[in-house]
Amino acid sequence: VIEIKHLNKSFGNHEVLRDVNFTVNKGEVVCLIGSSGSGKSTLLRCINLLEVPSGGEIIYNGENILNEKHDIKKYRTHLGMVFQQFNLFDNHNVLKNCMVGQQKVLKRSKEEAKQNALKYLKIVGMDQYINAKPRQLSGGQKQRVAIARALAMDPEVMLFDEPTSALDPEMVGEVLKVMRKLADEGNTMLIVTHEMEFAREVSDRIVFMDKGVIVEEGHPDQVLVNPKHDRTKEFLKRTL
Ligand code: ATP
Ligand code: MG
Repeated sequence: VIEIKHLNKSFGNHEVLRDVNFTVNKGEVVCLIGSSGSGKSTLLRCINLLEVPSGGEIIYNGENILNEKHDIKKYRTHLGMVFQQFNLFDNHNVLKNCMVGQQKVLKRSKEEAKQNALKYLKIVGMDQYINAKPRQLSGGQKQRVAIARALAMDPEVMLFDEPTSALDPEMVGEVLKVMRKLADEGNTMLIVTHEMEFAREVSDRIVFMDKGVIVEEGHPDQVLVNPKHDRTKEFLKRTL
């Protein structure tokens, strides 16, 4: 679905991404791993155009979305994004959080948005909390609502940027469980994570990034168990 070609990103003279090439295919779960500062978040932010790439191409269903003619707003609606810090609307309850985007961006009717929101809140196990405000929820619950909100937009690809790293340890499991379910159901997912065990279990492919370049990628058993590159070996030694 998404093909990244020769992507570059610099902040000033700091090259954060260098000639990044990779693909996410339909139905595939790809985990992106690498040390802090290696450029993982920047890559996700470039993919959904929260950052403007300095060079390269992002091909979505055959079209380069960096092409000036391309409808960026429309492109963005095909991507669901889940951040470390939830980014829920604090003044809206859970149900409304999952409805506003559908109504405003997708122009769905209130009723349709509600039904769709309820469907996904049920999938993440938060349908009991539709009237709660975000501040009344635990971190794990907030993150599950954030996932439901992204899913309610019926995106083609879900992007996750360390969805569990701001959570207390006892809440990590409930969020990973939801993500595992989504992976099993065939959703297309690109996940930045430090949870190696989870990455090994759910992903079809692991991409290891270091200092803005993709060092190696492949089947989880290959990258995590038998890495080819010394940089991957070192990283894994430090994290496992
Ligand atoms: P982490 O695991 O800590 O989240 P990361 O792999 O996601 O790290 P990025 O957040 O992508 O790393 O950052 C990569 C590099 O880009 C870092 O050196 C960071 O300081 C720099 N960087 C990121 N965003 C900006 C920005 N808006 N302006 C300047 N430099 C930035
Ligand atoms: Mg990051």
